Amino acid sequence: MNEFELIQHFFTRSACAQGGENISLGIGDDCALLQIPAEHRCAVSTDTLVSGIHFPDQAPAFLLGQRALAVAVSDLAAMGATPIGFTLAITLPQIDADWLQAFSEGLSLMAQRCSIGLIGGDTTRGPLALTLTVMGAVPTQQALLRSGAQLGDLLCVSGTLGAAAAAVPVVLAEIDRHTIPEATLQQLLAAYWTPQPQLQLGHYLRGKAHAALDISDGLLADCGHIAKASQLCLQIQQAAVPVAMAARQLLGDSAALQCALSGGDDYQLAFTLAPCELARLQHAFPAVQVIGQVCAGAGVQLLDAAGQSIVRSYSGYQHFN
Ligand code: ADP
Ligand code: MG
Repeated sequence: MNEFELIQHFFTRSACAQGGENISLGIGDDCALLQIPAEHRCAVSTDTLVSGIHFPDQAPAFLLGQRALAVAVSDLAAMGATPIGFTLAITLPQIDADWLQAFSEGLSLMAQRCSIGLIGGDTTRGPLALTLTVMGAVPTQQALLRSGAQLGDLLCVSGTLGAAAAAVPVVLAEIDRHTIPEATLQQLLAAYWTPQPQLQLGHYLRGKAHAALDISDGLLADCGHIAKASQLCLQIQQAAVPVAMAARQLLGDSAALQCALSGGDDYQLAFTLAPCELARLQHAFPAVQVIGQVCAGAGVQLLDAAGQSIVRSYSGYQHFN
């Protein structure tokens, strides 16, 4: 099988490459062509996943396909954008038909969940790596930026945190999975391999949230990005942070809390909005929790039950440190 047969068989013919709304031309020409609806902006984001760095070398291909796309689409959700299409640049050590088939099925499953179509890519040989570029549309002026937080806003998260980070030693087989109760194990693996981009919530938050992002590097580090971009302080009540039950069952309360604060990979949204929006929001999205507020100052302050600041570093994961 040569490069063109590979593209044809596993990508052009895959379920996720059969077009979609606002895809005028998909795979096969020099470029794909997208339609951007009137009064909208095109939202674009790229993510690279390198084997051995972002996922284990022996990662199951079906799950890897789902995770790679979910991680990328999460950025569209965080902007309030509606997905349109994505490209896939894939570097493969060799042609393994079974691996490619499973990968393409995983990719198609997540693409269907997110209503996004594969519109092109590039196929090269080398150590396994994936670069996905996602494109979506968001009404002009309604994109959810990091820079818009306002004094007096509530700080919210879209759901529980910590399960994906807690799952890492299980995924890496540093913890024997047979020692973990089945239900807990399934929740941990799902959190790591199949995060669900918060597209409906992102859509709802258009024109309501003042600032938003998806939590990829850890709650404290990512809230730091909002604080910096908005030139305000984000105060977080530690006791209000929703810690995933599966993380607590695996690691105990204290280590699970650390995963929720500083572990990445959950792809929940963190956002700020006016207090008057809260009741309607929580009615529509019951998993949303208030964890703090926006106040004058800079950076992120983590507070204990007595309102005292808990000093800690929260730099998140950085590749060149
Ligand atoms: P070019 O040389 O013009 O860049 P290629 O020969 O690399 O084009 O690719 C041919 C077509 O196949 C293009 O439309 C490209 O977007 C698509 N393509 C290549 N690799 C992939 C892939 N991994 N997934 C989806 N589409 C791909
Ligand atoms: Mg090419």
